[in-house]
Amino acid sequence: MYPNAPPEASRRDVTRAARGRSPRSTLLALTTGGADDIHSDMIRINENYAKLSSSYLFSEVAKRVAAFQASHPGAQVIRLGIGDVTLPLPPTVVSAFRDAVQEMAAESTFRGYGPDLGYDFLRGPIAETDYRARGADISPEEIVVSDGSKCDTANIQELFAHDLHIAIPDPVYPVYVDTNVMAGRTGPYRDGRYGGLIYLDCTEDNGYVPDLPKSRVDLVYLCFPNNPTGATIGRDQLAAWVDYARRSKALILYDAAYVSFIRDPSLPQSIYEIPGARECAIEFRSFSKTAGFTGTRCAFTVVPRDCKAWDSSGAAHSLLDLWSRRQATKLNGVSYPVQRAAAAVYTPQGQKETKGLSDYYLANAKIIREKLAGLGFAVTGGDNSPYIWVKTGRDSWEFFDRLLEKAGVVVTPGSGFGMCGDGYVRVSAFNRKDNVERAMEKIAAVAGSL
Ligand code: PLP
Repeated sequence: MYPNAPPEASRRDVTRAARGRSPRSTLLALTTGGADDIHSDMIRINENYAKLSSSYLFSEVAKRVAAFQASHPGAQVIRLGIGDVTLPLPPTVVSAFRDAVQEMAAESTFRGYGPDLGYDFLRGPIAETDYRARGADISPEEIVVSDGSKCDTANIQELFAHDLHIAIPDPVYPVYVDTNVMAGRTGPYRDGRYGGLIYLDCTEDNGYVPDLPKSRVDLVYLCFPNNPTGATIGRDQLAAWVDYARRSKALILYDAAYVSFIRDPSLPQSIYEIPGARECAIEFRSFSKTAGFTGTRCAFTVVPRDCKAWDSSGAAHSLLDLWSRRQATKLNGVSYPVQRAAAAVYTPQGQKETKGLSDYYLANAKIIREKLAGLGFAVTGGDNSPYIWVKTGRDSWEFFDRLLEKAGVVVTPGSGFGMCGDGYVRVSAFNRKDNVERAMEKIAAVAGSL
């Protein structure tokens, strides 16, 4: 029994009090302790969770698709919605994975806990291939291996004070926003936005690359190639952000989860290709979309030694030290076979095979982009990105419903990524080519009535 559990009668009172309320007001009543007959000795939740805006985008999509399937049994549904990969792991990766599992089966080669921040056999090739070979001065010690960029982009905010000014693009990968809400850095959610955050509008007018903030900002999240818009950032534009961050002592949290889709040689692949970025940027990368690791889980975060933040007495602290401490305390590393599998990506054959994966999805993206543009839609992305951002000319969810109803094709409503996403949908190239082609035929057949 929990020491502070309410007696039976009081619990019944709470249940009675909760009856007739909406789940949200019940939650608030239960947590504020201020409502009638609610006891103050109950276990209380982190009330910031109650601020989170209702249903998660993809669960609402799944609900609507399930309702459609229930009312149209036998109808074929093609999913160009969720951004999960469909191709299997490349052979070189599988072979390294299998060999490492075999090592775990023999006493002489078995491995227990690995190094907290990742094995050198992985951190070395990352530094060499992803950074130094491109003129970016990053050392293996500045690379921290993890089990995903979702957790890294979610957890990084733990290193910082609560009263910082945080800038987040709109539309955006929802993790950056939600984790700052959970941590209590925002006010309530009203009219599509949380109080206290600085939203950076990404629109047709600025080519979906946010303008520099007009007010003071401490942390700014950027993601290129972008999810959901598929937009990329040019070298000069990124240099302007780095320059801004250095001048104003801001830190850029740069999510490059989709870097492997960049084909235009003029585009920067890493923020560290920009001089000065070592002192003002943390970069997140993942093997998920690069090498098909969404179900295998491996990623890394780069925190250069020059990145600093300050305590209230004005003393500087190394963010690499803080992040290493955080990861060493809360994560016991990534499994040995998974890191061996990730390291195989950096062999010549691994590089060739993984490029084959992104080439495949980029070919799908081209089909989608050209077909939809040909049907008269304004489209962005899809050339250095697996996502195509489509202007719908109507409310995102309304377009989603019509497309599902008339063509049986599932896309992702842009409004789920932020207010500026309303009137758009995200179409994903992560699917089999024949499915993509069929989906485009179906859309073409009903385009006039969308
Ligand atoms: N960052 C962005 C922008 C993403 O879209 C995703 C996944 O969809 C992630 C990070 C998460 O990657 P991971 O699978 O490594 O957690």
